Amino acid sequence: MEIKKPHCSKLDRIFACPGSILPADGPREAGGPDAILGRARHEALSYIPRGARPPVDEIAAKYGVDRDDIALAVRMGQLAWVDDRAYFPTAEVERRVESSVCIGTSDIVQAMFTLDGTDSSPHILTALRLWDWKTGWGSDYHPYQLKGYGLCLVEEFGWPANDVVSVWEVWTSHRQTRVTNLSREEIEAFRDGLAAIIRIAEVTPKKLEYRAGDHCTFCPHIAGCQTREAWMRGAVTSLIKIDPKAVITREMIGETYEKYEAAKRAVALFDRIVKAALEDGPIPLPSGRQVAYVESEREKIGAGAAMNALSERLTISDQEELLGDLPKKSLDAWAKGHAPKGKKAALMREIYAELREADAIRTVPHRQRAVVDGE
Ligand code: SF4
Repeated sequence: MEIKKPHCSKLDRIFACPGSILPADGPREAGGPDAILGRARHEALSYIPRGARPPVDEIAAKYGVDRDDIALAVRMGQLAWVDDRAYFPTAEVERRVESSVCIGTSDIVQAMFTLDGTDSSPHILTALRLWDWKTGWGSDYHPYQLKGYGLCLVEEFGWPANDVVSVWEVWTSHRQTRVTNLSREEIEAFRDGLAAIIRIAEVTPKKLEYRAGDHCTFCPHIAGCQTREAWMRGAVTSLIKIDPKAVITREMIGETYEKYEAAKRAVALFDRIVKAALEDGPIPLPSGRQVAYVESEREKIGAGAAMNALSERLTISDQEELLGDLPKKSLDAWAKGHAPKGKKAALMREIYAELREADAIRTVPHRQRAVVDGE
């Protein structure tokens, strides 16, 4: 069987579950509201590097999404583009790309050339850059997708002099840009890995591995996939009793949810009980082994001293990337311990004023799971 080169956007799922590379009879894509909103945001963002104003209302109407969701992504995208467009002076937008093992449409591509080559080859490729809009949340992590695009670029343009493809991942939901360099080793190892999966799929498809997980969401095999069904069944039957032949439905997941919450509380309580028991010594297990505290030493790096020592090496955004956000509750606890009696609120007001002055506070959208009234 011949396997069509997969699209880069499918690669993370294929590496997580190689069996999903096989053609499916079922629906092609489970396009839920988030996927539709993502497509609408991407379309609007594509106008920015072209120097055009995105028709926000028109795009919102076309996809049936909230225009403010599009407008916010555009605003965030424009700010990021203004910051870094100097690295993309002659950018190509939405370029179709293809390699020996995958295809895709990259958001923004920049190949940098100098004219210092030889007579027969007057141009030297000095850098290859890729800009990838991320319209979802910060946990979006798609390393194989990026490597796929990286491979397409080097197979189309050749390797640049520095042997890396630089990737700008730009999150519009919380305005963050991460720049990484994909090395030749990483991209070549990725190419060989994908070529091996394609070879197995073409020659001995029964040997492909199947692994279920979050990546199943957009898999065309999702309807009727036995691996996923077994994975969900395992999770549900660990909490409720069901007919072993029953198909797992959303209602069953709903029925399990309250038990899951109760189980989480029970597990947390049990963990506290184990900790308390351990304070009195090891806990014997029926297998003859025991649970005990084992002492060891770990290196810890003092954040304050480290940032001070590395201040010349690290920019503020490097430091933020390393340290992450300062938990508000830690700051609150610190103020409680350091403010004169009855002055904690005043100290916190002062601290927040200073932080706002220093532009150290930003607002990010937040999504959390909640149990709410039904429609
Ligand atoms: S539904 Fe999940 S387990 Fe099944 S083929 Fe797709 S990714 Fe693999």
